[in-house]
Amino acid sequence: MEYPPITKPPIDQFAVRPNLGEYDAARQSITWEQIRSELDGHPGGGLNIAYECLDRHLKTDRRNKVAMIWEAGDHDPETYTFEQFTKEANKVANGLRSLGVEKGDRVFMFLSRIPECYFTAFGVLKLGAVIGPLFPAFGPDAVKDRLEDSGARVLVTSPELWSKVKEIRGDLPDLQKIVLITRRKEAEPGEADEVLWDDVIANQSDEFETVNTDPEDYAVMHYTSGTTGKPKGAAHVHNAIIGHYATGKHILDLHDDDIYWCTADPGWVTGTSYGMFAPWSNGATSLIYEGGFGANAWYGMIAKHKVTVWYTAPTAIRMLMKAGDEVAKKHDLSSLRYTMSVGEPLNPEAVVWGEKAIGLPFHDNWWQTETGAIMIANYASMEIRPGSMGRPFPGIEAAIIDDEGNEVPAGEEGDLALKPGWPSMFRTYWHKKERYDSCFRDGWYITGDRARMDGDGYFWFVGRADDVINTAGHLVGPFEVESALIEHPAVAEAGVIGKPDAVAMEVVKAFVALKDGYEETEELRRELKRFAIDKLGKAVAPREIEFLPGMPKTRSGKIMRRLLKARELGLPEGDTSTLED
Ligand code: ATP
Ligand code: MG
Repeated sequence: MEYPPITKPPIDQFAVRPNLGEYDAARQSITWEQIRSELDGHPGGGLNIAYECLDRHLKTDRRNKVAMIWEAGDHDPETYTFEQFTKEANKVANGLRSLGVEKGDRVFMFLSRIPECYFTAFGVLKLGAVIGPLFPAFGPDAVKDRLEDSGARVLVTSPELWSKVKEIRGDLPDLQKIVLITRRKEAEPGEADEVLWDDVIANQSDEFETVNTDPEDYAVMHYTSGTTGKPKGAAHVHNAIIGHYATGKHILDLHDDDIYWCTADPGWVTGTSYGMFAPWSNGATSLIYEGGFGANAWYGMIAKHKVTVWYTAPTAIRMLMKAGDEVAKKHDLSSLRYTMSVGEPLNPEAVVWGEKAIGLPFHDNWWQTETGAIMIANYASMEIRPGSMGRPFPGIEAAIIDDEGNEVPAGEEGDLALKPGWPSMFRTYWHKKERYDSCFRDGWYITGDRARMDGDGYFWFVGRADDVINTAGHLVGPFEVESALIEHPAVAEAGVIGKPDAVAMEVVKAFVALKDGYEETEELRRELKRFAIDKLGKAVAPREIEFLPGMPKTRSGKIMRRLLKARELGLPEGDTSTLED
């Protein structure tokens, strides 16, 4: 099916936002300096993420505005105004200081999405120390690797999570203190280095002067998702807040009256950059939902809190599609005015489904842990091209380049590259300087993704460089094949790999998970093959199709094609620390 572009009529709320024409003008006129001037800056002359997200709002009417609505699903929500939030973060900063934490120290957080997780993040930043968020479903090895690599000095966690991984304690000589939050479960401090939140944080003064950090001081360490290999620790600096603020304003389109919901966990970069920094630097109200995925529960959150702006991920959208349109129709989703997706290629089918089932198409955007903030987006008021990631943010120079670093003509595939120098760019891979250096070629940062740009400057994802398939001289991106298969009514998800072949070099093999109610029959397999040939042609359609109950995914919900391939070929599975259970 050909997907026509979707054009959003300019409505009042978008009136001040760039539309396609204004966008091109904005590209010329928006400068990082100008955006920086919309922030306050630390009174001492530096820049601090926590100051921009919290302290500066206390000087304005936002002081008593709700910053965070916290929903656990099992009791009434808790709300925190910017002032209350700041006071809690101040206690954390004082408490950590009393434990000896200093500027530059790494403080890791191994927590579920409870309010203390957010207070900790900002307390650490206020202190000038560096946060390292960990995904709460990690097992001992994943936690150990990251704490060891980063040389974390303090771990803030909960008794229930800590007991899961406690065996790693002896392997972590740099780790000095473990702070246990007893919101859910009582605990006694066990070992001498374990302290209780209630003893070291809760009783502290709620006043703290945010440290005057330099824009280039480290602020956040994020390990990548591990989709293509061992996760790398991308180190970000306070200057990144300029990018979070700018994209929150111009891409998330956040306004003062918005209720915003980012469904990502802070263990992944989306959950910090867009679960915390972008909304709060823009003074928006952010919903934090601690519960897991469930179509009814999620739609229920939108209806209950009258969410207006929603940022989620392709896997979640595909699961909502699988749950069926009727589930969406049971809820009042009329508060929503703008929906976005990130993290994986968003199948065009999913964009169109959004418009049909919830009345809004999903605006796809692209970025990575390394870029710190959104780089390429389908803007609020611009024409969406389903299947495209959109166009570069003003101030971002993106291009498709060949092996020599030359830009290729429109329509041709190549490496997606960015001109270094945007504020939220990572400054290094922790302990992996060589790996970091290898990301640059001829003055470009090479993202590791393959893509195309069309004549209007829209970027189209082809695949990760490691995943692109070479079959009989054709380069095939797995996304294209997966998207075609997903258009079939029986298919819930698809993962596509290249399988070595003596004649064709590689053949395209697809793994397919079916929607409920469909059976894995030989007949359906044949039908899917025919269906793919009709859509893609014989050269690109999968030669083999195998049914699986579900795709192996990272815990952030990305299909792990490298694992499908390793399993297919009987090879070692490599780093699986981020693999979903
Ligand atoms: P690792 O680097 O450890 O293999 P990862 O690349 O999945 O893991 P992240 O930084 O979380 O780690 O993910 C960024 C990557 O996700 C991008 O480089 C791209 O491959 C993919 N991605 C993100 N958004 C999109 C999008 N809108 N369309 C297509 N791909 C996307
Ligand atoms: Mg990556």
